[in-house]
Amino acid sequence: MFSYRHAFHAGNHADVLKHASLLAVLHHLTEKPTALMVVDTHAGAGLYRLDGDQARTSRESDAGLLRLAHDKPAASGGDASGGSPLLQTYLDMVASFNSSGALKVYPGSPFIIQRLLRERDKLKLFELHPTDSKLLDGHVAQLEAGRQVTVLRQDGFEGLKAFLPPPSRRALVLIDPSYEIKSDYAKVATCIQDSLKRFVTGTYMIWYPVIPRPEAHALPRRLTTLARQAGKPWLHATFSVGKDDASDGTGGMNASGIFVINPPHTLKAQLQQALPVLLKTLRRGTGAAWSVDSGS
Ligand code: SAM
Repeated sequence: MFSYRHAFHAGNHADVLKHASLLAVLHHLTEKPTALMVVDTHAGAGLYRLDGDQARTSRESDAGLLRLAHDKPAASGGDASGGSPLLQTYLDMVASFNSSGALKVYPGSPFIIQRLLRERDKLKLFELHPTDSKLLDGHVAQLEAGRQVTVLRQDGFEGLKAFLPPPSRRALVLIDPSYEIKSDYAKVATCIQDSLKRFVTGTYMIWYPVIPRPEAHALPRRLTTLARQAGKPWLHATFSVGKDDASDGTGGMNASGIFVINPPHTLKAQLQQALPVLLKTLRRGTGAAWSVDSGS
């Protein structure tokens, strides 16, 4: 049923947008002392080899994380973060998994999240793919995090319900499906509608691909409506590397977006600073652009 493996895509431009945003959200949420519950409904394998067969076949990280880490943005004249503290935080996080210096290991969302948790916080990880859930189990076991981190081989859309509202009344939910089946778009919207009924003050972060498909265009509009109906603030950011003008157009997805309900008030300014820097570094060709909108 599942053919998607995140190992082919780890560290690509969409991961840079998603994981830098995730870091910004989590840094803010862990400033308050009250315990936080984080649920990652589509966790993947947790850790990826950037020098492994899958990553080397797709070479997606070359045009994402690795370009950001190694190229200097044209106008910055400085370090790879080009003056964006958020991008520097992201690069530092990835570097912390690579003690030898060369970037060979890429941390997926479960490991990025776990790094920022305090002892009192909890992390619930859902992953359905038989191989990736086994890999995730093994990677999480190495953390020796005990009961702080739980791996569940269940449908994340359904499983999330059991954790809302969390006992501490503070939660971040990351919803990052592969959208292999087009029903995933509708499932995301239904899941958010249900989750807001269960726990309206939670922070919900959804990633989606910006691709020429009606469901993909409709998703941010549906999420905006749901946030408005719940009377909650939202933020929508997109990032497009544009089309590779020199290629045959088979370069894969070139844009993605994140939608956050109840975002930290600091997120908009951080993304407005980071995305132009990212665009300078990762721009491929026609259509390269970024946007950040918000409402309340
Ligand atoms: N969140 C990960 C990260 O940022 O490192 C990447 C996740 S990847 C985009 C999506 C994952 O969801 C895949 O590993 C896929 O096997 C898994 N998946 C697909 N449908 C699922 C479902 N209904 N419940 C849980 N996991 C699912």
